[in-house]
Amino acid sequence: QHSRSITVLGSTGSIGVSTLDVVKHLGRETFEVAALTGSSNIALLAEQARNFNAKLAVTADANRYNDLKDALAGTGIEVAAGRSGLIEAAEMDAGLVMAAIVGTAGLAPTLAAAKRGADIALANKECLVSAGDLFVEAVKQGGGKLLPVDSEHNAIFQVLEENQRHALERVIITASGGPFRTYTLEQMAGVTADVARAHPNWSMGLKISIDSASMFNKALEMIEAKHLFGLAPEQVEVIVHPQSIIHSMVGYTDGSVLAQLGCPDMRTAIGYALQYPQRASLPIERLDFAKLSRLDFEAPDETRFPALRLARLAMTRGGVQGAVLNGAKEVALEAFIAGRAGFLTMADLTEKVMIELSTLPAASSMDDVFAADTEARRLAAQHIG
Ligand code: NDP
Ligand code: MG
Repeated sequence: QHSRSITVLGSTGSIGVSTLDVVKHLGRETFEVAALTGSSNIALLAEQARNFNAKLAVTADANRYNDLKDALAGTGIEVAAGRSGLIEAAEMDAGLVMAAIVGTAGLAPTLAAAKRGADIALANKECLVSAGDLFVEAVKQGGGKLLPVDSEHNAIFQVLEENQRHALERVIITASGGPFRTYTLEQMAGVTADVARAHPNWSMGLKISIDSASMFNKALEMIEAKHLFGLAPEQVEVIVHPQSIIHSMVGYTDGSVLAQLGCPDMRTAIGYALQYPQRASLPIERLDFAKLSRLDFEAPDETRFPALRLARLAMTRGGVQGAVLNGAKEVALEAFIAGRAGFLTMADLTEKVMIELSTLPAASSMDDVFAADTEARRLAAQHIG
């Protein structure tokens, strides 16, 4: 069996580090590493590039090119930087590309990989939230597979039989409810980023952790599911399940509901995407049902978590509303992290911008998507002041 080649976009992040851990467990003969990309963490990027014998290492931050070059001097590993460096990494001849850059910055390089026909293991949900069907179409045109890494979508992907699609009625996305599941709006109004980043079950990057607390993460995932599985908005349901043991479910027309369960560890989803249609053998903690005392469920509260309502609005309106929601949210999120905006401002501000841009026409090209994203960011920044 000859080895496949993998590129990891965002290798220094939470998903990127877990991906390389999975690659290590699968064994050196399974994958060779083409390119690795990071941004600020040059020391880790250089260490990864050496350990995995990468051909190319790229920092997204053009100002750190020399640091990376120095760190890899004498290794023979090629070095590049900036946006063009990310595209170079995406276009290298790797059969599989893990898309694990955070935010809209991941869109252009992931698209470049999709267009040349690579299989895309997709962690960067912003690709689907912002570009929607255009992104799905780009992958299809390129001829590669789209393999969902987000745990909920990976769970659905695991239990959704392609030849039973005609009988698919709904997907039920589970949500832990985050650290503020039981908080009142008043309590949430005063929280800081340090409090909001502490997720009860999953260990993740900073931004997605805060998005989990506001349930914007679930909002993005609803839109992501719509495009990934070709669903109508009303086929996308959310249920709060605080233990995060059921990663999501699929409901069929005969009343059956199929679920994927496991301990909350992203390496399961990553391993599934890397080895599909096979399964990986991984040292993940096993579920012990005798010790699982209970699984709880509760309806999500759209009054305390308006992000869910905004996701429905974006799904129903269609067009570039996903890009608008995400662009405005990212600006508000950055302001919250910097202490320049309150926790509840994130949803208020996003809604405001969605209203202002509600009549933007649907995108006919990626340029329209980027334009909607830029305009949403501009308005959001203006509101924050
Ligand atoms: P992290 O913040 O941990 O990592 C982000 C990665 O992107 C790092 O490699 C970082 O480099 C790099 N990066 C940061 N800014 C830029 C930029 N402007 N251009 C290019 N690269 C950049 O994020 P996560 O790993 O948590 O998340 C990655 C993606 O996966 C997100 O889209 C998230 O929504 C999604 N996801 C994550 C899950 C998780 O469990 N973490 C679960 C499901 C989905 P550096 O650190 O060197 O600066
Ligand atoms: Mg998820």
